[in-house]
Amino acid sequence: MTGDRPTGRLHIGHYVGSLRRRVELQNAGDYKKMFVFIADAQALTDNMDNPEKVRQNVIEVALDYLACGLDPEKVTLFIQSQIPELCELSFYYMDLVSVSRLQRNPTVKTEIQMRGFESSIPVGFFTYPISQAADITAFKATTVPTGEDQKPMIEQATEIVRRFNYIYGETLVEPAILLPDNAACLRLPGTDGKAKMSKSLGNCIYLSETADEVQKKVMSMYTDPEHIHVSDPGHLEGNTVFTYLDAFCRPEHFERYLPDYPNLDELKAHYQRGGLGDMKVKRFLNNILQEELEPIRQRRKEFEKDIPAIYDMLHRGCEDARAVAADTLDDVRRAMKINYFDDAELIAEQAKRFKESAE
Ligand code: ATP
Ligand code: MG
Repeated sequence: MTGDRPTGRLHIGHYVGSLRRRVELQNAGDYKKMFVFIADAQALTDNMDNPEKVRQNVIEVALDYLACGLDPEKVTLFIQSQIPELCELSFYYMDLVSVSRLQRNPTVKTEIQMRGFESSIPVGFFTYPISQAADITAFKATTVPTGEDQKPMIEQATEIVRRFNYIYGETLVEPAILLPDNAACLRLPGTDGKAKMSKSLGNCIYLSETADEVQKKVMSMYTDPEHIHVSDPGHLEGNTVFTYLDAFCRPEHFERYLPDYPNLDELKAHYQRGGLGDMKVKRFLNNILQEELEPIRQRRKEFEKDIPAIYDMLHRGCEDARAVAADTLDDVRRAMKINYFDDAELIAEQAKRFKESAE
């Protein structure tokens, strides 16, 4: 179970952080069921005044999913707002979380700062970790493949599950985060060198960008500001070009595009010694990215030819997802003792109690 906010097209940070992994998991077939969803309701929590942006990006994200190889035959793809059960779950979970606990969430703290919300944080945005717990638990998710920024959300969801099960009895399933195993992919930086590539920061290389656009962005990427002349020794820490190479480069890329070097370690060593220019490294990165992105772009173009079919697919996905969420909600209501009309025992008991007191 995992998802993305339709606040823009998906970028290579999403790809290495989560999307690539989802496709691998789908194709490995180890999970009985997989759900991937477009978090439009969550996107509205900080874009409430721009519903058109969210609406337009739903289809963009769906196209990116399909282009990357998510297969609706194997994975249920759906749109969050179409599953009202999620709102109801969130409402109950709100009783299990304190305000100070939400305030401690480091990702939300950073996001509040980034958006300049300060004291004007919408309640919906502030509480989105709770709604995310509803998204995850509604599908009894065991595994959530995401980037590192989602760690606090999974921790929050786990706490809610434990507290719920402790109070109301074993009902919900504890989720586990599945982080990328490559450190560079945990939180891919932006092309400007900022800590995270993010749609909201405008420092992204999008999966659907043309080859020219990608090349332009790579060539103007942030590297090492102290590496002015080719002969200067260069630094790797905070050097985005090398971080991207860590995320994307495979041994065969050297044979194909840079046969002078046997591997990435040798390339890095040369850069650190001095004598290796940024342009050469950037050209290498560009070749690698183009090779990875070209098939994604091509597949996207094919899917773009039949947009109504994609809405149909999402519609079916929503119906399937809704049925699963409704089952969980039944369990939750029963556990919380708010299932008044499907509990014959309760009605009989109450009838007996009142009869006895009348006698
Ligand atoms: P927004 O700025 O609107 O929050 P975003 O770019 O952060 O958008 P999300 O939709 O919030 O994207 O995140 C979707 C998924 O992609 C999450 O699993 C998140 O961890 C992952 N992800 C997003 N950006 C990165 C990144 N730069 N590196 C690794 N993973 C990322
Ligand atoms: Mg985000």
